[in-house]
Amino acid sequence: METVPAKTILQNVKYGDQWFGSDYNMNLYRGCCHGCIYCDSRSDCYRIADFDTVRMKKDALLILERELMYKPRKGVVGIGAMSDSYNPFEKQLCLTRHALELLDRYGFGVSLETKSTLVIRDIDLFQRISKHASCIVKMTITTPDDALSRIIEPHVSLSSQRFSAIRELSAAGIFTGVLLHPVLPYLCDDEEDIRKMVELSAQAGAKFIHSSFSVTLRQNQRTYYYDKLGEHFPGLKERYEQVYGDRYNCICPNAKQLRKAFTEECQKYGLLYRMSDIIAAYKKVGNEQLRLF
Ligand code: SF4
Repeated sequence: METVPAKTILQNVKYGDQWFGSDYNMNLYRGCCHGCIYCDSRSDCYRIADFDTVRMKKDALLILERELMYKPRKGVVGIGAMSDSYNPFEKQLCLTRHALELLDRYGFGVSLETKSTLVIRDIDLFQRISKHASCIVKMTITTPDDALSRIIEPHVSLSSQRFSAIRELSAAGIFTGVLLHPVLPYLCDDEEDIRKMVELSAQAGAKFIHSSFSVTLRQNQRTYYYDKLGEHFPGLKERYEQVYGDRYNCICPNAKQLRKAFTEECQKYGLLYRMSDIIAAYKKVGNEQLRLF
């Protein structure tokens, strides 16, 4: 695989309380080949040329180890924000696996998000990290409908397979839940689907589900998304252009109704859904493990 130079791997996070309480962020790969039609990471502002080609950061593990050794404070490391760490190459390369080993060795926690069932390969490491630090695994699922997920996220595990992965992670004692992000207006914003998402999450053993009932669109990401809408869903591109123009935050027109239904279902099944509650719950588990350890 092609490599790209990297000076650092860990970035400090300023507003971790707004996104799962991470203290640091890291991306071991650059680009992603999962092909989600709405992917924000392909936006111009990130300057990732040829986004669908995965490259690995040169000497990523050496750099990461050096950074972990000298960080003045331990913390939770977010993984997977810009590129899914469980791309098909990870199966052989094990870059993410080795990075998790380093987080474990140096006493750091992890907050990982993915759409790939390959994540279950590393259950042993999440278990090890959970013994001494905070650990949360988020599975992104945007629709309960496998046929739709195949179109909007063409090169990664189907929604049903991701729910199965949650079941395995949860059965292994990992603090796991669902990122219902984005919710694509006019495609994934059916109230019954949202209720179904909560029900399936609960049945799979998720501890939480989080959503903002919107999609963000900017620069060339919007062009790519609209082209895909035109290809697969005739008339929808024009509808978006009419309703959202070049708006960044495209909130589902029925977001209020969806939020109400979502909240009702979360309360019915006992799933956490507020960011502050999710952070408090998984960090509490980490702190309790730490005391025992
Ligand atoms: S998995 Fe994430 S990073 Fe990869 S294409 Fe999909 S949204 Fe983008």
